[in-house]
Amino acid sequence: MFVYMDHTATTPTSPEVLKAMMPYFSENFGNPSSVYSFSRKSRAAIEKARGQVAKALNADEGEIFFTGSGTEADNWVLKGTLEKAMKAGKNHLITTQIEHHAILHTAEYLKKYHGASVTYLPVNSEGFVSVEDVRNAITDKTALVSIMFANNEVGTIEPVAEIGALCREKKIPFHTDAVQAAAHLDIDVKAMNIDMLSMSAHKMYGPKGVGALYLRKGINIENFIHGGAQEKRHRASTENIAGIVGFGEAMEILKSRLDDDKKINSARRDRLIAGILEKIPHAKLNGARGDKRLPNNINFSFIGVEGETLLLDLDAKGICASTGSACSSESLDPSHVLLALGLKHEMAHGSLRFTIGRLTTDEQIDYVLEVLPEIVSRRRAMSPLWEDFIKTVRS
Ligand SMILES: *Cc1c(COP(=O)(O)O)cnc(C)c1O
Repeated sequence: MFVYMDHTATTPTSPEVLKAMMPYFSENFGNPSSVYSFSRKSRAAIEKARGQVAKALNADEGEIFFTGSGTEADNWVLKGTLEKAMKAGKNHLITTQIEHHAILHTAEYLKKYHGASVTYLPVNSEGFVSVEDVRNAITDKTALVSIMFANNEVGTIEPVAEIGALCREKKIPFHTDAVQAAAHLDIDVKAMNIDMLSMSAHKMYGPKGVGALYLRKGINIENFIHGGAQEKRHRASTENIAGIVGFGEAMEILKSRLDDDKKINSARRDRLIAGILEKIPHAKLNGARGDKRLPNNINFSFIGVEGETLLLDLDAKGICASTGSACSSESLDPSHVLLALGLKHEMAHGSLRFTIGRLTTDEQIDYVLEVLPEIVSRRRAMSPLWEDFIKTVRS
């Protein structure tokens, strides 16, 4: 059996989306910036997609800007906001310890090369940021608050609307990385007082290499990509028309089935969680519980085993999972998110993430519940860490 349970790393482009994209590779290849009527088809396609994305977020069309990825949208917000604010003497960024590296590494860059001062707020054991901590971190130098909507490793959904209300009250721009959240949750940027929001198409059954930034009217940040006059002079370079069309289509489809998907995914999520807790002793669920957790996220630590070894064993059984972050597969450092949740190094190393989605079936949940307990107990039997742990439990 082939089981893809890594929907948080990426999703397949859905057939309907691909179909909508196809004409823009060849037939309607016109450059949207050209003046002849042929290129108007390309321009119209981009504007249609902008409308589809705007509608899904309750934003206005003029507030959506397409980018090359979610990472680019995050870079744009942090650099574009801080560079501008620094001219006015404000150099303080508030973010969290559990952000995606697109935020964390950009914040480090701003510290290193531009003299930014960065507050990395801690989270509690389930991964929640405290709104009071945000309030207390704000100073008269604060230029931006950037807090993710939902965490990609453990699925915790942050109190974004409360943080938005606080930032609006304090007149500080509020950005949220909603790359994961937008694929699963209803987002209303107006009701939630969000000023800026990042998204990515490939996390929601659209194509790779296209993202978007929602930039509320009245928020002025410096451009990130400089050049031509595309995207109303805010993001230069010839548009990825097919990708943008795919993003719009993916977003509209996603929105139309959001409630059903939420129900189906969370039922399967809860069955997988309950099954693992029942069949595997000393398994620890990481992240939030219930409706404050993304409906598709399952993240466990198994004391005594390395997550990396489990991944290889699962792969041999046809199962694609992750230790948490696709970006960390190159390094053997434990996850910064799990450490921020307070996990000890050995537990953070023993983590395993399953993220379900449209490719998931009930049979696949059963299959994982059948093979995973065997794999964990075989690896534990070979592990000195597990032996030590069992001794301490028995004594
Ligand atoms: C995947 C992801 C990103 C990066 O998006 P790309 O389009 O792959 O660059 C940023 N933030 C979060 C939370 C993500 O999950």
